[in-house]
Amino acid sequence: MDKNRDTNRGKAGQSMISRRRFIKTAGAATTAVTIGFGTTTASAEELPRVSEDGAMAKALNYVHDAQTVDAAKRFSDRYCNNCALYAGTADDEWAGCSIFPGKVVAGRGWCSAWAPKQA
Ligand code: SF4
Repeated sequence: MDKNRDTNRGKAGQSMISRRRFIKTAGAATTAVTIGFGTTTASAEELPRVSEDGAMAKALNYVHDAQTVDAAKRFSDRYCNNCALYAGTADDEWAGCSIFPGKVVAGRGWCSAWAPKQA
């Protein structure tokens, strides 16, 4: 009898260890996923603004205020906030742009890579 009890206790003990390992592993995985999402969801307020003096910005004639661009270079209704590459909404003052990864551009800005949104 005592021998069976030990055996049962041993199996129960193994089961408890497995559950503990599972809970620890699940907790670590949850933490990793949370950290991963945290690094990919930086808001526009947390990202630096594109510098108008940067090499890429200069190459594309990017400016924070589109109305300063010569009318011969830019159609007057084109702004970052209505460009297909703008990650924000029409009301966002600053948002990401796929041309300038990790930075934000001005909603009222513009550059020569402006592209129309698909209907
Ligand atoms: Fe603005 Fe579009 Fe140029 Fe990006 S690609 S800087 S959103 S005009």
